[in-house]
Amino acid sequence: MYKIEVHRPWCKKCGICIAFCPKQNLEPGEMSYPTAKDPEKCNGCKLCELRCPDFAMYVYEDEESLDESSIASRE
Ligand code: SF4
Ligand code: SF4
Repeated sequence: MYKIEVHRPWCKKCGICIAFCPKQNLEPGEMSYPTAKDPEKCNGCKLCELRCPDFAMYVYEDEESLDESSIASRE
């Protein structure tokens, strides 16, 4: 599973990340900052991160959701 973080001081709430998410997983949330609707919908494509003109979006894999085999394959 992937987690999405928005660095609020850099986010100008332009909505580009919301528009480009192929899974329609992002929406304006608290104080109109982009928020993931359902973390299970995110496929980790990072389009939101790549398209953000202000480098405010950060997508990362949730370590708790990794099983032992996927951790072993990273070593
Ligand atoms: S693209 Fe970046 S600046 Fe625009 S709403 Fe998304 S996180 Fe904020
Ligand atoms: S990583 Fe891809 S699927 Fe996940 S929220 Fe960003 S654009 Fe959407």
